[in-house]
Parts: sequence; structure tokens; C-alpha cells
Amino acid sequence: MTTAMVRAENVHKSFGHVEVLKGIDLEVANGEVFCLLGPSGSGKSTFLRCINHLETIDAGRLSVDGELIGYREEGDKLYELRESEVAAQRRDIGMVFQRFNLFPHMTALENVMEAPVQVRRESRTDARDRALQLLDRVGLGERAGNYPAQLSGGQQQRVAIARALAMKPKLMLFDEPTSALDPELVGEVLDVMKDLAREGMTMIVVTHEIGFAREVADTVVFMDDGVVVEAGKPADIIGNPQHARTKAFLSKVL
Ligand code: ADP
Ligand code: MG
Repeated sequence: MTTAMVRAENVHKSFGHVEVLKGIDLEVANGEVFCLLGPSGSGKSTFLRCINHLETIDAGRLSVDGELIGYREEGDKLYELRESEVAAQRRDIGMVFQRFNLFPHMTALENVMEAPVQVRRESRTDARDRALQLLDRVGLGERAGNYPAQLSGGQQQRVAIARALAMKPKLMLFDEPTSALDPELVGEVLDVMKDLAREGMTMIVVTHEIGFAREVADTVVFMDDGVVVEAGKPADIIGNPQHARTKAFLSKVL
């Protein structure tokens, strides 16, 4: 048996009195493409943020590659990790958001080099070589010297993906990476994600792109109101949903 890349067991998260995650159980295998669908407000972003320790869970267990996120376990005791240890866990997890969040005063190349140089302490030469390779891989080798404002939304998002990959993550989280794009730019970003999937990257993708989920996902999960309503193969969940809530959601986005 291969170890799960992500394992969530009964994960709960509240903001004030509002419980947003009400006991999430799921497992993402190494190399798996995992698509998370669900209506707005169902807790998808919160769940991704918990995986990356941008939010702390209130109860349950959440681990990445066999390590609890944010805690060290000794016997039956849990100890909170220090900030530097949390940062080390976070370094291995790439995240791409709806908004590209590139540094506007840096070129595409500098954006991709930034974290390897500043955080991983790579030499500028090594970081530069790798950044150029990554920009090439997302189809932007010719655009390395451009500033974000000189790039289309789709190009900026591809730079954001290259920037996340520069940290050599073992897991990539995508939170509606194409939702802010003009429709004609969606395909080029999805194509880069498909390539990544083919190369074996473990990815959790929150998306309303049902076509992408159907074609690329190994597992599709439908979440609503803080719970996993159903999970399975795309052909089953998208092609033959069992739950009324899943059917209602799909009828709106398909
Ligand atoms: P989704 O990504 O599925 O649209 P979210 O995880 O963003 O859902 O949000 C789930 C619920 O949690 C929403 O009701 C949202 O308003 C609430 N929420 C998210 N983040 C916060 C926060 N930092 N403080 C308070 N409420 C939040
Ligand atoms: Mg969201």
C-alpha cells in the first residue's frame, strides 16, 4: 500500500460560532488528481487553507505525506510545531489561487526565482536556470523578461504555477485557478495543469471546470455545507450522481 499524500480524518473548523468544516474525511493518494467541487460557501477554500496551515483545524487529524500539519505527535500527545517547522511543512506544498498574486514590480523570471533564492537559499544562477526551464514548461520561455502588467491573465496564472513549482512541492493545491480568467484564457491554464497531472504531480483542484474534472481527475469529491456529500470516480460522481445536492449543483454548472 502506498501512503496517502493527504489524509483528513474528521476535520472540523469553525470561524466564531459558524462551523465551516463539519468533519471532513478524505484521502488523496500519491500522484492522484483530486478535484473538489461544491457550491460557493461550502468550505472548499477553507479546507485547502487548512492543508497549507493558513488556517488551524479545531478537531480531527490532517496529515500530508505522513506528517501531521502543525503538530508533532509523541505517544498520544500532540505538540504544536514552531513557526519555522510549520514554514518547512508549507514549503513542500504549492498553492495557486484564483488571483495570481504575482509581485508586480518583478519580471516573470524574478517572480519564479524569488522563493528559491530567498527561502531555499539557492544560488541565483541555479534558481535562474530552473526558473527559465519552468517558464518554458508553462509555455512562457519567451516572456521571462515581462512584468505581470505586460502579461494576460492566463499568462500570469501560468507564471504563478511556475512559481509554485519552483519550490519543488510534493503537493499542489489549486483554488479555482481559472475563475478570474476571461473564458478564452481558461484552456491554456488547464492545459498546463493537465501536463502536470500527466507527469504525476499530486494535486487537489477546486474548480467549476467540470470538463477538466471529468477528463483529468482520478477522484471527484462533491462538498456542500462543510461535509463531503459524495466521492468517487468522475464518471460516477459527474455522470451518475446519487445525491440530490450533487445533482442540483451539477445542473447549474454543466
Ligand atoms: P468555498 O471556498 O467553498 O466558497 P469558503 O471556505 O471560502 O467556501 O467559505 C466557507 C464559509 O466560511 C463561508 O461561509 C465563509 O463566509 C466562511 N469563512 C471563510 N473564511 C472565513 C474567515 N476567515 N472568517 C470568517 N468566516 C470565514
Ligand atoms: Mg473558495
